[in-house]
Amino acid sequence: MRLVLVGPPGAGKGTQAEFIADRFSIPKISTGDIFRANVSGGTELGKLAKQYMDAGDLVPDQVTIAMVRDRLSEPDAAAGFLLDGFPRNVAQAYELDSLLGDLGNSLDVVLELVVDHDEIVKRLSGRRTCRKCGHIWHVEYDPTKVDGVCDRCGGELFQRDDDMADTVRHRLDVYAEQTAPLIQFYDGRSQLLVVDAMGTVEDVTERAISALVESSETADQS
Ligand code: AMP
Repeated sequence: MRLVLVGPPGAGKGTQAEFIADRFSIPKISTGDIFRANVSGGTELGKLAKQYMDAGDLVPDQVTIAMVRDRLSEPDAAAGFLLDGFPRNVAQAYELDSLLGDLGNSLDVVLELVVDHDEIVKRLSGRRTCRKCGHIWHVEYDPTKVDGVCDRCGGELFQRDDDMADTVRHRLDVYAEQTAPLIQFYDGRSQLLVVDAMGTVEDVTERAISALVESSETADQS
């Protein structure tokens, strides 16, 4: 299965991507995670990406596309993958087509996670990340026993720069302007599956997996 996950920041893409990739035994490829790993590792790519990420802007296409090309060319992506956070605009979507074409493949399905605006702001601004193990908590939905301390490893929790209220608003504007047009783009190609992403993580995972299984069965029959 070659799958793209789209949805606004805070829709739970990262969390759902883990479960879905696991269920279909495909690698999860998250451009946000790759950028963050480069930022932590202090690489040149990380230094360049950080300024855009902290501001809630998109990293330039040229840089992002080269990174995705390298990643999709790795052997573990040959039999399928789940892309989380890419493509992020229509230009990247065309690049993905051509990249997959070069590899002799094409995209099967694009899954959109839909959440309402107030819920997104609440989810993102309450998110806290552990400095030590990277686990993500939420002050309201998934609080730690002791405020500011990770239950798993005792590490200190912090708020990602791009989860601060002003940056969250800006990321949502960037999504509406640049990423939302992808929805029509893939819908026009009949590749879009829409899933309601309100409710518990488990409910959303179940809905997403059922929709994907159903769509792959329909594709097999046709
Ligand atoms: P995410 O974790 O997917 O929300 O990504 C965090 C940040 O990484 C974004 O706000 C962008 O700055 C950058 N980023 C991730 N994916 C892309 C992409 N496909 N194109 C450009 N920038 C990206």
